[in-house]
Amino acid sequence: MAKVVFQNVTKQFGNFKAVDNLNLEIDDGEMVVLVGPSGCGKSTTLRMIAGLEDVTSGQIYIGDRVVNDVAPKDRDIAMVFQNYALYPHMNVYDNIAFGLKLRKTPKNEIDKRVHHAAGLLGIDDKLDQRPKQLSGGQRQRVAVGRAIVRQPYVFLFDEPLSNLDAKLRVHMRAELQELHRELSTTTLYVTHDQTEAMTLGSRVAVMKGGLLQQYDAPQHLYDHPRNVFVAGFIGSPAMNFLDAQIVERDGGLFAEGAGFALGLPEDKAEQVKSYAGQDIILGIRPEDFTSEQMTEDGHAAERLTVKVGVVEPLGSEQVVYGRLEGTELVTQLDPRLNIRTDQELVLYANTNRLHLFDRDTEESLLAEKPVDEPTAAPAGD
Ligand code: ATP
Repeated sequence: MAKVVFQNVTKQFGNFKAVDNLNLEIDDGEMVVLVGPSGCGKSTTLRMIAGLEDVTSGQIYIGDRVVNDVAPKDRDIAMVFQNYALYPHMNVYDNIAFGLKLRKTPKNEIDKRVHHAAGLLGIDDKLDQRPKQLSGGQRQRVAVGRAIVRQPYVFLFDEPLSNLDAKLRVHMRAELQELHRELSTTTLYVTHDQTEAMTLGSRVAVMKGGLLQQYDAPQHLYDHPRNVFVAGFIGSPAMNFLDAQIVERDGGLFAEGAGFALGLPEDKAEQVKSYAGQDIILGIRPEDFTSEQMTEDGHAAERLTVKVGVVEPLGSEQVVYGRLEGTELVTQLDPRLNIRTDQELVLYANTNRLHLFDRDTEESLLAEKPVDEPTAAPAGD
């Protein structure tokens, strides 16, 4: 096993920077997910570790070794692709054993490793079958099996679940997590799916336009997004964004906009007081609204009224789309509230969980000092 480090890594195709000065550390045995929209540079990042793309500048370490000039076959990595890349004319056993045979691994060692991997993945009864006789999930397991038997320093996964249907994807996601617990191999996993990223990564790296936006534990990313992009990308339904202004009134600070005036709690007010009088972007997650029926002590300033559009009952919650003056809002509410299309609905926003962003830079005004974290007590003498 080994840690993987990107040090000021840039990849250019001609004048185009696909990856721009990336600095990232994946700890020994850690599973990190690289997530971002199509074209953000995540596959290129993975391909650089594998040695399938050259590095334009900077250094990539696997363990203590700079691997920029090491041939792919000598990097001790194993990669699992979206399309599985299985050989159709070989049975499952030979597909899994292929890389070991190339390396002239002794036959009994190959046999031991193939059976062990097949056992881990629950495909030991499929070893004689050809890929076309297998389901999508089973083919994916074969591809993973082929990676496992190599006993690599690092696993690289490039959207390995995107060809599977939704239910199987959830199932395989859990299996990959289990497998990682079992093997503890350093893993970098690439996906465009934020749910996959949140559930699989002990840390998640969010990329956009070749630039790393934020690298954090999933919950921290969710609670303290550093900018509007991360805030909107992580979370489903996505965070609501409202044009607002910081207004100082009655000795307090408010985030005010068309149809709302939300009093800021003291800790947030403290952080944004220099923005008084300025325009900002206000972020509110869909689950941070509550209905009038549930919040009897709601402060007047936190109240807002939306005109209800579509209502989606999901059993565990209802997703209610509404309009607040000109702005669309998505809210997740108690499923047992009787909410009808076209009604005026009074809601309360949980002001402790508001997100505030600079209008121009789109950077969080709160990121440097996460307010939900306990502040360390001052050290005594
Ligand atoms: P996707 O999810 O669609 O695979 P991605 O985030 O993995 O996207 P990359 O495949 O890393 O994105 O590509 C990043 C950018 O680099 C894209 O704009 C792509 O068009 C460009 N790019 C990738 N490979 C090459 C290449 N060989 N030549 C020129 N441009 C390339």
